[in-house]
Amino acid sequence: SYVGVHSTSFKDLLLKDELLRAIGDCGFEHPSEVQQEAIPQSNMGVDVLCQAKSGLGKTAVFVLSTLNQLEPTPGEVSVVVLCHTRELAYQIKNEYDRFSKYLPDARTSVFYGGVSIAKDKELLKDPERTPNIVVGTPGRLDALIREKALKLDNIRTFVVDECDKVLEAVDMRRDVQEIFRATPKTKQVMMFSATLAPDMRAICKKFMQNPLEIYVDDEAKLTLHGLQQYYVKLEEKEKNRQLNNLLDSLEFNQVIIFVRSTSRANQLNQLLNECSFPSIAVHGAMRQDERIEHYRQFKEFNKRICVSTDIFGRGIDIERINLAINYDMPPEADQYLHRVGRAGRFGTKGLAVSFVSSEEDEKVLSQIQERFEVKISPYPEEGVDASTY
Ligand code: ADP
Ligand code: MG
Repeated sequence: SYVGVHSTSFKDLLLKDELLRAIGDCGFEHPSEVQQEAIPQSNMGVDVLCQAKSGLGKTAVFVLSTLNQLEPTPGEVSVVVLCHTRELAYQIKNEYDRFSKYLPDARTSVFYGGVSIAKDKELLKDPERTPNIVVGTPGRLDALIREKALKLDNIRTFVVDECDKVLEAVDMRRDVQEIFRATPKTKQVMMFSATLAPDMRAICKKFMQNPLEIYVDDEAKLTLHGLQQYYVKLEEKEKNRQLNNLLDSLEFNQVIIFVRSTSRANQLNQLLNECSFPSIAVHGAMRQDERIEHYRQFKEFNKRICVSTDIFGRGIDIERINLAINYDMPPEADQYLHRVGRAGRFGTKGLAVSFVSSEEDEKVLSQIQERFEVKISPYPEEGVDASTY
């Protein structure tokens, strides 16, 4: 099948019984291809540089293998996980909690900017609450290290999720290097993304020694085959009416609508609510507690429509999203791939519709089709049969 599930079972991956039980509780039946390939070696402490397409369970690779190797020592942080957004850090922390259900001594904490650093420091000072696993965004973790609140000299495994994104921005890369320097020389390093260009692979490998390298060298193989993809050519001023029509006619479980800026997210969210489409917005100009609250509401299915900037463009995993709309086309092809990958998680079906309103948009559209060998057709006049997405 297209998720690459074979008859292998999680039992074959040499995991602790406590983890196998938690995996069973999560309803996972078989490991995906990337899990089969990477977990056994990760369990051995080997460095891993892993590219695998969206939604096929890269998170479980590092969560399971770090929990499997963990020998929790009170007061010692053994694992650090970095990622590019606060909501993704929060999500990964919850994955650790889910899989460590039967490992009562394994404790995970999450740290990110936009909230009180004093509270973070308090937690790290309290011997009853100090974590063995730390998940966070680079800026806040670096700040905690500089203020000597967080000590990483017992780190055994250093993980970067969405590594190309984390290492692409100069300031985030600098934070990562600082954090890396605060960890022992000998440790396991693991990095993950769905997109990993050759120059980025070289940058990642500078942090590693003889890594297990898993790549998708043929970009066509990054295409999600359960996902139908369409575009609508229109004028900017027609976007609202077109969106209205789509939301009216499509039978979605949950939909994520991507826009290019904070102000556009606010405007569209307001408009949708006025048109009786109860939606929530997520963007960088919101208060952090509100951002997490909106993530939670959407994840827990209290809201079905979310308008987002690229904050939710990568990594965010919301099971019921079966429709992704690019209200604004992203400026580059990689971003498109990540965004539409929010629909069709773990090989499920989904639908993506992109609004194309400028020459720039058309250029991106043709780049996507060429690079990922995907056919993006004009949205059909008769609509799309609800049983197919
Ligand atoms: P990626 O990071 O590769 O994009 P995620 O780790 O976010 O993908 O996983 C996508 C979804 O698939 C999540 O909801 C996760 O719980 C689910 N999942 C992962 N592995 C399995 C599995 N072996 N069986 C069933 N579901 C899985
Ligand atoms: Mg991921």
